[in-house]
Amino acid sequence: MQLADGMARLGTETAFEVLARAAELERQGRDIINLGIGQPDFRTPEHVVEAGVKALRDGHHGYTPAQGILPLREAVAKDVLARRGVEVNPDQICIMPGGKPTMFFAILMFGAPGVEILYPDPGFPIYRSMIEYTGATAVPVALREELGFGFSADEVLAQITPRTRLLIVNSPGNPTGGVTPRAEVEKLIAGLPQHVTVMSDEIYSRMLYDGQEHVSFLAYPEIRDRLILLDGWSKTYAMTGWRLGWSLWPEALIGHVTRLCVNNHSCVNAATQFAGIAALEGPQDSAEEMMAAFEERRRIIVPLLNQLPGFTCPNPGGAFYTFPNITGTGMDARTLQKRILEEAGVATIHGPSFGVYGEGYLRFSYANSVENIRKAIERIEALLL
Ligand code: PLP
Repeated sequence: MQLADGMARLGTETAFEVLARAAELERQGRDIINLGIGQPDFRTPEHVVEAGVKALRDGHHGYTPAQGILPLREAVAKDVLARRGVEVNPDQICIMPGGKPTMFFAILMFGAPGVEILYPDPGFPIYRSMIEYTGATAVPVALREELGFGFSADEVLAQITPRTRLLIVNSPGNPTGGVTPRAEVEKLIAGLPQHVTVMSDEIYSRMLYDGQEHVSFLAYPEIRDRLILLDGWSKTYAMTGWRLGWSLWPEALIGHVTRLCVNNHSCVNAATQFAGIAALEGPQDSAEEMMAAFEERRRIIVPLLNQLPGFTCPNPGGAFYTFPNITGTGMDARTLQKRILEEAGVATIHGPSFGVYGEGYLRFSYANSVENIRKAIERIEALLL
């Protein structure tokens, strides 16, 4: 078989490999605590599940418009107005099977040999994977611990060349939980050349701590005609397996992305779209309770990680990840992750799986119970002492 060259460049998410190894160890009878996983350990709110079931019973089992049903796009527009304070046209919203397809299509749309695309590092591994798949040059934007794992606007602007077509940003971020401060966002936008489009991955927009407000790129009218916004239901409403996301596109791009949807998946599962309306328009108490639980776990896990020999752990501003610096252990991140999994029975993800600037760090997800978090850290402590 002779495959297209791009297939050799397509990457993956190491997280899935760690999960596979953790599952294998469990099959062998080992007790594994999973702090590697990137999904909420909560159930989808009951009224959302009911709305999906009702939609199926009501006969919503056919194709929908490729962009998504209008009532859902209107619900998203209303939510955007309420939470981001910006009026958007539902005709520029495209409903997606998850958050990932928005990045997939945005990168396909701009990526080509000779083109440069900037992406956050450490960051969600699919950005780089897809950029390289298209033949474009993947240019990492360093997210540094000393800047709270946000980008430096000056550094980003210095990396832009005439060949840069797309800049990917993500705050609150995976894998670090870092939040880029408003001042850096504004400096970046003020200096951003006209030929650069931004894809802002705001999938963790509702997951912020200490009363912080979300700084959305959408708040800046000067870049609205070259902004692609990615968000969705997966994290906020514990709906990862439903596969439901939304995206907002400039007028010039919405027709293109809709054609990509028609060519790829036709439309998102109809019943899921009705569940999405219920999530946005129904009671928000489950989502808020989930966030309160994450906040409590963050308060517990960060000091515990800081007590581990060789670890230092900054307080993450958002999402449900911590990204402690483990250089003091004297081990590289891969070795430490492997030992923690194999010897202590705790799954984490090593920093380099999120990019070259991830060396010296491990990602801990606190999408697990307080009891398991405490037990996991005790086991790691016993390994390190
Ligand atoms: N963007 C970031 C930064 C993520 O961490 C994830 C999932 O982990 C996604 C997008 C994808 O979300 P979804 O599961 O909705 O495709």
